[in-house]
Amino acid sequence: MLTNDQLSAWDRAHFMHPSTHLAQFARGEAANRVIAGGSGVFIEDRDGNKLLDGFAGLYCVNVGYGRPEIADAIAEQAKSLAYYHAYVGHGTEASITLSKMIVDRAPEGMSRVYYGLSGSDANETNIKLVWYYNNTLGQPEKKKIISRWRGYHGSGLMTGSLTGLHMFHKQFDLPLPYIKHTEAPYYFRRPEAGMSEAEFSTWCAEKLEELILAEGPETVAAFIGEPALGTGGLVPPPEGYWAAIQAVLDKYEILLIADEVVTGFGRLGSMFGSDHYGMRPDIITIAKGLTSAYAPLSGSIVSEKVYDVLMKGTDELGPFGHGWTYSAHPLGAAAGIANLNLIDELGLVANAKTVGGYLKEGLTAALGNHPNVGEVRGEGLLCAVEFVEDRIERRLFDPAKKVGPNIVAAMLKTGVVARAMPQGDIIGLAPPLCLTRNEADTIIDATRDAVEEVL
Ligand code: PLP
Repeated sequence: MLTNDQLSAWDRAHFMHPSTHLAQFARGEAANRVIAGGSGVFIEDRDGNKLLDGFAGLYCVNVGYGRPEIADAIAEQAKSLAYYHAYVGHGTEASITLSKMIVDRAPEGMSRVYYGLSGSDANETNIKLVWYYNNTLGQPEKKKIISRWRGYHGSGLMTGSLTGLHMFHKQFDLPLPYIKHTEAPYYFRRPEAGMSEAEFSTWCAEKLEELILAEGPETVAAFIGEPALGTGGLVPPPEGYWAAIQAVLDKYEILLIADEVVTGFGRLGSMFGSDHYGMRPDIITIAKGLTSAYAPLSGSIVSEKVYDVLMKGTDELGPFGHGWTYSAHPLGAAAGIANLNLIDELGLVANAKTVGGYLKEGLTAALGNHPNVGEVRGEGLLCAVEFVEDRIERRLFDPAKKVGPNIVAAMLKTGVVARAMPQGDIIGLAPPLCLTRNEADTIIDATRDAVEEVL
């Protein structure tokens, strides 16, 4: 068995980690942590530290760790057929069954699933679906995609461009052409303090319409948005937001892509965020919660309306020329089936709603009056605490003070993992959907204690 020191040396010498300060890591100035196991909402590192994972990995291990039902399903599939491709009409019992299960759970009007491996590649697929759709309809100039500042849609070239966070742009000369950004539905940072939520939603819709008119409606193909913002700050939309946006999209015949990589399969306390907020998407992106990350799998759920056009397209343009070797990988599909069954059997969607409500109330009671807490917000098991230097003016702390990262570090010392979100001092909490009230209390206590220590 390798020693921890040996592993650590190999890690720093050979493993290039994502979203990591590479130089500090190589020099040993940033911690490395080797995770060795997990059970329920807990993970354990190789030093034997047991941690309550308040962010479910990267808000993806929705059913919790160590579920034998999913592990067994993957093993059985690997033994009978580890791989076959999905090109030109091939499938497996697992990939076909999973497609039916997804469509049965999806919002009305959705009918087909195209599979990938990650949220990023699914959103790349979506852009190609939309372009193919408009080429088929004889409107090749309708190609631009509008996303929101603070949206997160992946970190490929196109999807990194869709992402509306500066740190994902500036190092790589993004965004690419075709991608435009509009205002974030971030009521806490509304332009005028006196605005009601409904007024702010109207303002967001007006800004969207202004952008569409400036670009030329005949050039705008689709609008992409997470039902509730995730990586950009875990922000549920203000009242009336999606209805106001939908009205503008309808007016200019612009497709709606709901990026449900985080919100799909229960996180908000509803199976899909689109249903939760009354959205009428044409395409839905799914990933994380589809398999609870037991195996990589993502998908684009396509509406019958869009699929009809795509079918005509193949008659006119030839086969839809887009595919990945691992599309609909049988191991991912087997994991997806077992995962969706488990979500139903354990009632995790309802649990996310009730325990999520309990967590938000507890955080509000513990921190709501703190002079540096700007807002406690959340929907289901997607919660955030936002810290500000000045509560009245909502003034940000100097980023050099690292308030968010320091609070997360203080929580970790007490055995709770939270996430410092990339923009602003925002602590993200998105634990597995099987969280109990007792475990929610542990998160609340750890957050309160860490805030007392740091601020
Ligand atoms: N879309 C959303 C809403 C996400 O939160 C993420 C990842 O966090 C992605 C897309 C990209 O998914 P992946 O990291 O699997 O490429």
